[in-house]
Amino acid sequence: MIDLHCHLDLFPQPAEIVAQAAVRNSFVLSVTTTPSAWPGTSALAREYLTIETALGLHPQLAKERFRELELFDKYLVETSWVGEVGLDGSPEYRGFWTEQLQAIEYILGACESAGGRIMSVHSRRAAAPMIESLRRFPDAGVPVLHWFSGTQKELDQAIRQGCWFSVGLPMVIAKKGREIISRIPRNRLLTETDGPFAETNGTPACPWHVGLVEHALSDLWCIDIQSATALLAENLRSLRAVANVRRLPNR
Ligand code: MN
Repeated sequence: MIDLHCHLDLFPQPAEIVAQAAVRNSFVLSVTTTPSAWPGTSALAREYLTIETALGLHPQLAKERFRELELFDKYLVETSWVGEVGLDGSPEYRGFWTEQLQAIEYILGACESAGGRIMSVHSRRAAAPMIESLRRFPDAGVPVLHWFSGTQKELDQAIRQGCWFSVGLPMVIAKKGREIISRIPRNRLLTETDGPFAETNGTPACPWHVGLVEHALSDLWCIDIQSATALLAENLRSLRAVANVRRLPNR
């Protein structure tokens, strides 16, 4: 069970979730929302080889935490993974769109200078500008668009540009989400929970709830569950391999 986008540090008892995820999940990407969260959140998972921590600046915090970009530079050398980063065009965040754009372009430039990173990217109501920013920084690394909700045309453009995708329960439940999933090449798709923000049956999604997404994918792909989980495991290996081509540092 692979959870490629989870906010482990935002659960009420992070250490307990981390310990359970280390047993139940084959891999978890623990994303952060601010650079200042990096030392604490990466320390949570330090002893577990199956949990990686990503360095992030959530677009919804781009204005409030803009000054933390200097910490982004400081910590970027410590990880091969970046996230959660991106753009959010929802009405409540559009007021500081300029800061969001400045922040994401700064981050993509930093990733490019550092030799590329695997990036978990938010693009809610901002798919087109996010894809355009990624196009302008081709050596920033490998983007994984998390919870993608753009149009078919935007999706096709992202696929052409080499983007990967991580999909969770809200996507497999919704008709639009399933339509998006059906257009994504199977070899560029991974699973996620976005816990604790996203929910499973009304409670915050834990990393191991990603099993429900695997089952839904096996139905959508018309393959058995063993084949679906094998394919997803192979995809994670191949994502790391693609990223290694870009000379990521070893941890
Ligand atoms: Mn998230």
